[in-house]
Amino acid sequence: MEADVQLDAPLAAVRARVTRACEAAGRDPGDVTLLLASKAQTTAATRAALQADERARAADPSLRPVLLGESKVQELVAKAPDLVDLAPSWHMIGPLQSNKVNAALRWVSCVESVASVDLARRLAVRAAARDVPLDVMLQVNVSGEPTKQGVAPHEAVRLAVEVGALEGLRVVGFMTIGARSDDDRVVAAGYDRLREVRDDVVASGAPGTASACGLSMGMSGDLELAIACGSTTVRVGTAVFGSRPAATGR
Ligand SMILES: *Cc1c(COP(=O)(O)O)cnc(C)c1O
Repeated sequence: MEADVQLDAPLAAVRARVTRACEAAGRDPGDVTLLLASKAQTTAATRAALQADERARAADPSLRPVLLGESKVQELVAKAPDLVDLAPSWHMIGPLQSNKVNAALRWVSCVESVASVDLARRLAVRAAARDVPLDVMLQVNVSGEPTKQGVAPHEAVRLAVEVGALEGLRVVGFMTIGARSDDDRVVAAGYDRLREVRDDVVASGAPGTASACGLSMGMSGDLELAIACGSTTVRVGTAVFGSRPAATGR
């Protein structure tokens, strides 16, 4: 038997952080979506988070449901079938290999980690079989750290224009993982860069780019900074679930 976890308190604490950060930045808290990064968490823990969210929304109907983010298709397909009763919206937030596209598309409503036209084309072919377009975000490596996925900022506008032209996909924004730095100015510079990329793409007027307004940036440690820089989706793992098994990392 797995321990019966209650995640109401940490979820409420994260929501309060988001609200405070929005107020400090003069933004509407309704403009920032909370995505729970459930990687390396058990199905039971993920269920507990979704149930805590249901209770929070019952108490405050103005809240929108949390999203779930998985970094590995393997974990997604292991958990998702056991959570269908709660009808979560799954986002892919980790690298997606082409041989796993079919398995992922069975569950996800959005792939945030598109970093090549090649992957976008593969997704578009599969997405064409659905009745609604697949939402995608383009992952940008704003820090230039070699361990991080994503295209360089100067390549992002061209990628967005190419992906925007593909049938079956809807580009809904950009995702990045912030710089690994203790200096807020360094992290914020990366987030500002992503916002500039987004602004350039939307201003380009290219087909399929008007919808690319979203900015998925900010995690447990820096969501306030990301919201100050314009984030519209914060991806939170440890602040809600507690620590992950050491082997997985980020
Ligand atoms: C794990 C992960 C997160 C969440 O990180 P925390 O520090 O646990 O909040 C966010 N985004 C991505 C892409 C991740 O892999």
